[in-house]
Amino acid sequence: MRSTMPDTPLTIARVLQYGSTVHGASTVSTWNGNGFDRRTYAETGERAARLAHALRDQLGVRTGTGPSSEQSVIGTFMWNNARHLELFLAVPAMGAVLHTLNPRMPAEQLAHTLKDAGDEVIVVDADLTEALASVLRLLPRAVRHVVVAGSGERAALAGLAGEVHRYEELIADRPLDYPWQERLDEHTAATMCYTSGTTGRPKGVVYSHRSIYLHCFQMMAPSHYDVGQRDVLFPIAPMFHVNGWSIPHVAFLTGADLLLADRYSRTASLARMIEQGRPTFSAAVPTVWASLLEELDTHAYDTGSLRRVFVGGSACPPALMAAYRDRHSIDFLHGWGMTETLGAVSAAVPPGGVGADEEWAYRVSQGRFPVSVRFRLVDPDGALVPHDGVSVGELQLCGPDITTAYHGGVGALPVRPEGNFTPDGWLRTGDVGRITPDGFLTLTDRVKDVIKSGGEFISSVHLQNTLMEHPAVSEAAVVAVPDERWGERPLAVVSLRQDTGADPEELRDFLARRVDSWMMPERWAVVGEIPKTSVGKYDKRRIQVQYEQGGFD
Ligand code: ADP
Repeated sequence: MRSTMPDTPLTIARVLQYGSTVHGASTVSTWNGNGFDRRTYAETGERAARLAHALRDQLGVRTGTGPSSEQSVIGTFMWNNARHLELFLAVPAMGAVLHTLNPRMPAEQLAHTLKDAGDEVIVVDADLTEALASVLRLLPRAVRHVVVAGSGERAALAGLAGEVHRYEELIADRPLDYPWQERLDEHTAATMCYTSGTTGRPKGVVYSHRSIYLHCFQMMAPSHYDVGQRDVLFPIAPMFHVNGWSIPHVAFLTGADLLLADRYSRTASLARMIEQGRPTFSAAVPTVWASLLEELDTHAYDTGSLRRVFVGGSACPPALMAAYRDRHSIDFLHGWGMTETLGAVSAAVPPGGVGADEEWAYRVSQGRFPVSVRFRLVDPDGALVPHDGVSVGELQLCGPDITTAYHGGVGALPVRPEGNFTPDGWLRTGDVGRITPDGFLTLTDRVKDVIKSGGEFISSVHLQNTLMEHPAVSEAAVVAVPDERWGERPLAVVSLRQDTGADPEELRDFLARRVDSWMMPERWAVVGEIPKTSVGKYDKRRIQVQYEQGGFD
């Protein structure tokens, strides 16, 4: 029997219309260096409409109503700000595709993603025009239009694109409403993102309206991130990383206010934003929280509004979570995700009725998947590994917000490399870990980061987490380096807090008292700052290359 219910599509157009009316009084605030510039969601909706008219009528952007229609791809080269939010909403809601480019990626990789995605229009923040120019020089005239957002020079772009426009001039004098594609097929492409390319060429993942919509509901669930209208969201994670961790869309869906840091990323600036903007919820990778901790520990800021932060993108050291809990009364919500899973897909929310110790063990895990996501662990021979909390295997997933392929390039079919997808269509995450019978995942490492020493596997995450327990350690990364006798051995690279001192011998003793002797790194380096990727994770490849070139002697 067919149900009597309609197949109403789940679309970003609906999110935009709902948020700009029902939550019209909610606000998005962008940091200007001293304070916040505020705008309501009603105004944001009107500006999105003006933008959509300009894109369609003046720039010739093609919009589609279904997966097989021709849609233009609009690239953004922007920080977290209110104009970027307008693009996050308007572009998918009009039926085009948003491609967020990561300005911190090397120019060659950006040129590859831009060509692979087929960007016809790029919107760039004014302070990033030079950086964009160095990408466009590699692909002269590939882009029809560049739109410069904010005031600043555009001279750097001369001759590199068909036409160069100014955002505010382009959207001025346009109608304040737009026939958003509320009925478009929910499987149509809405946004796309590329992996950060730390382990090969960046690969494109294309998100549908439906997957984003469902992902937002996951973020609202109390069993996950419990984001709601009363929240003030402060995503420090960049909007160009994995669909902005879906926070821009969640904000409009729930009516939660939004605070955005624009180009300001220094820890002192972030602390001031927390003090002035009074967020209740924030989100960033562990390295951001580690450097912010030192700032909050050594200066008097009022962070009283901030009660919950989401941390993910790499394993969060439990010592960091405990420091925030004990010294700043901030609870960390640990979650796991990747570009291929539309961001955070698991959440470490302890079940009810457990004691304090047990609760902590749940919190520091990578968490539990939602009902929509199927998960399994697989051994190197392809056999299923039991979810007994002990046995370890590679994590594989499938579900409505888990990709089944990569973008294959303009006009080409999607590709499914064997290394990334199983024959039965599951995503091979490349992460290894264990899962308890009640579904909580603990990652031991990435397959490519595990240190293979003789016949034993050493977890780099375990050593990092243990090092982070030392009060003088600000950051710790452990990588595999070649060793004649054992094949590979761990190299520990640490950076120390400025307010406390420790010498390498002390760290060595500290670690030796806590881990088995066969895991103990023989090689150590104390550095000012650990090399990071374009999204702020430890750049383990760069550390290995630097070591091989004698960079840590
Ligand atoms: P890239 O693969 O280029 O770094 P992603 O941002 O998609 O880009 O990274 C996804 C990877 O980040 C995951 O495969 C996993 O190894 C790691 N990761 C994400 N969240 C966590 C977490 N909470 N704990 C451990 N690792 C994590």
